[in-house]
Amino acid sequence: MLEKLNEIEKKALEAMAQAKELQELNELKVKILGRKGEITLMLRGLKDLSPQERSEFGQAANQVKDRIEKLVAQRINEIKARDLNQRLEHERLDVTLPGLPINRGGKHPLTLINEEIRDIFLSMGFAVAEGPEIEKDYYNFEALNVPKDHPARDMQDSFYITDEVLLRTHTSPVQVRTMEAMCPHLPVKIIVPGKVYRKDDDATHSPMFQQVEGLLIDKNITFANLKGVLMLFAQKIFNEDVKVRYRPSFFPFTEPSVEMDISCVSCKGKGCRVCSHTGWLEILGAGMVHPRVLQYGGYDPEEVTGFAFGMGIERIAMLKYGINDLRLFFDNDKRFLQQF
Ligand SMILES: [Zn+2]
Repeated sequence: MLEKLNEIEKKALEAMAQAKELQELNELKVKILGRKGEITLMLRGLKDLSPQERSEFGQAANQVKDRIEKLVAQRINEIKARDLNQRLEHERLDVTLPGLPINRGGKHPLTLINEEIRDIFLSMGFAVAEGPEIEKDYYNFEALNVPKDHPARDMQDSFYITDEVLLRTHTSPVQVRTMEAMCPHLPVKIIVPGKVYRKDDDATHSPMFQQVEGLLIDKNITFANLKGVLMLFAQKIFNEDVKVRYRPSFFPFTEPSVEMDISCVSCKGKGCRVCSHTGWLEILGAGMVHPRVLQYGGYDPEEVTGFAFGMGIERIAMLKYGINDLRLFFDNDKRFLQQF
């Protein structure tokens, strides 16, 4: 039996020394040491031997198993090293190749303009105020001196929830809410960004859009203050050499009221399609706060004055970025959004 064992070992070691692939080695190992392997089967046949012979043979067999296992492990390492060297020789890794780009996304153009407008007014000492989008008729119209027969109060133009509650049609109700909360403190110096709702839907109107409202109330506030603040705003959001003009207008909550135009950002005032060949673009409405609105807010119009202004964020973004259709803002088309 010992002879047969030596014979198995000799053959196994020879075969393993010649094996060239991992699979060959594994198969050899199983063939000799596996559950039905040659040595395993021999060990099972020991029951016919005497105890002394059994012990001798068992020892010898275990030594053979050790030697074979060691050689298998050694050969596996050799073959793995050989394979790795071959791969290193043939595969080239170009560490200068650019990696896969990570898509980071970006801010929506309306968010960018919103933040820019906030930054400009915060730098002039304004604070940000907010109010509810579902508003009482009182704050949306009555306290802003909007008469009962004003067209905006028509069911056709505004989204009413009940007779007394509607989706706010402008951010102006926050003027009165803020005055109520702050009175008698001075100054009231706020901007009010937010969403507003009107029954409009075409290339330049959307049923939902965003406004920024501004309000400054203090002693001795004049139209000159209004012009100074809005001029600085126009220069900062468009450019330093933008020109500004005011046209008389009418709003129930300001007196006098104006529309502010800037020189066309596209043709610099020479006249083009963007400005309908006038050289001017309307960007916001403004005026001195109506005495009755000050009273609704709790202030005495004999003691304080103020100005207010309001603009559409979409309009500013369209002019600044040269966008010709308002609906692009709401389509969420990545080809559009990736341009900002
Ligand atoms: Zn123009």
